[in-house]
Amino acid sequence: MDVPDEIICVECQGTCYRLTQRPEDDPFLPGDFVAYRCPDCAERFDLVMEADEDD
Ligand SMILES: [Zn+2]
Repeated sequence: MDVPDEIICVECQGTCYRLTQRPEDDPFLPGDFVAYRCPDCAERFDLVMEADEDD
């Protein structure tokens, strides 16, 4: 899975940094929660990884 290290905060348009870390030999899977924290407004976001649907 391609999981971004940073996302844009929807509250303040700042940068949220990923809290959830996984080892390279145990990567994220579809359905996993990935937590981000915005240092500017202290908001936390939990994203659900979704399977890539290229075809
Ligand atoms: Zn924010």
